[in-house]
Amino acid sequence: MKKLLSCLFAVAILIINVIPCFAANPTLSISSNDYTIGIGDEITVSVNLSSGSNLGTLTFNVNYNTSQFEYIAGSVSTGLFESGESNVASGGKVSFACVSTGVVTDGGTVASMKFRVLSTGGKISVSVVDATDENDGRVTVAGSSISLSCNHAGMVWETEKASTCTTHGVERGTCTCGYTTTREADLASHTYSSSTVIKEATCTTTGIEVGTCTVCGENGAQSPIPAKGHDYSEWVITREATAETMGVKERICQTCGDKKTQTIPTLIEGIDPEDTTGDDVTESTTEFAPIYTPEPSTNNYMDEIETETTTEANGLFGNAVGSDIAIIVVIALAVLLVLVLVVYMILIIRQKKK
Ligand SMILES: [Zn+2]
Ligand SMILES: [Zn+2]
Ligand SMILES: [Zn+2]
Repeated sequence: MKKLLSCLFAVAILIINVIPCFAANPTLSISSNDYTIGIGDEITVSVNLSSGSNLGTLTFNVNYNTSQFEYIAGSVSTGLFESGESNVASGGKVSFACVSTGVVTDGGTVASMKFRVLSTGGKISVSVVDATDENDGRVTVAGSSISLSCNHAGMVWETEKASTCTTHGVERGTCTCGYTTTREADLASHTYSSSTVIKEATCTTTGIEVGTCTVCGENGAQSPIPAKGHDYSEWVITREATAETMGVKERICQTCGDKKTQTIPTLIEGIDPEDTTGDDVTESTTEFAPIYTPEPSTNNYMDEIETETTTEANGLFGNAVGSDIAIIVVIALAVLLVLVLVVYMILIIRQKKK
């Protein structure tokens, strides 16, 4: 019986020795607030200790590639360890050293750091340098790493297959990290190079035309066609003017038949109505002056008038003024003849007395 108890005790001791060995197998994990990053982003990375570590001291490094990340700042979190410090080492390594007066049994964040992203697709890892329990016994602690993938914010898109107004083309995007993908391109704009008349313009109303796509036949925005304006014929006199009554003339649009009517003023006395041609009448409705005023613009015209007047005064005795002058001349000649005869008679009488 005593031997059996002794055996059980030995098993219990073995179990007690084994259990701390399982418990004291802590891990340091590393995490980020943003696993998809772009160039210029600022990210926070934290180092976390699993619970039940039974650690008294912990020294670890955080490793990164200096061409991918710029270290900004880091600090040890209070709560798990009593004190700790961080140092920036060259070559992309930040070192942390933490000490506790008791045994660390809780898990949580040990340290946190800020990095700026210089190029995408980087990796940050944590490696343990040294870890001891409360009795300065060595404890094995495993570390871990995180890979930060590119958010492809720097993607440059190029046309791989052009779109038409009816079919989507293909665009290919290439990121600075080397990632490449394709997407559906937006439809192209319509090509409105011809137009269709929906409503014809008339003399007085505007029409409507619409652009039609030469590719798909789609009708675009409507645009107005200006009114054509009337196309009137020449004026036609429908009632001749007389000295007493005004005349009427009209003209008709050869497109729509619109009729315009205008009055012709009464004729001026002494002007022969027969001399008035259609054009002259049109003139007379607007201008009376030319009928009365001879064109004084050329001297030749005036010379002709003077010449004609002179010729008529000398040449034609048949008229009233000419015959009066002839009578006066005849009387004067007769009186002269009588005077000559009287003088002749007096001379003859004086010679007979001698
Ligand atoms: Zn990318
Ligand atoms: Zn189209
Ligand atoms: Zn018209």
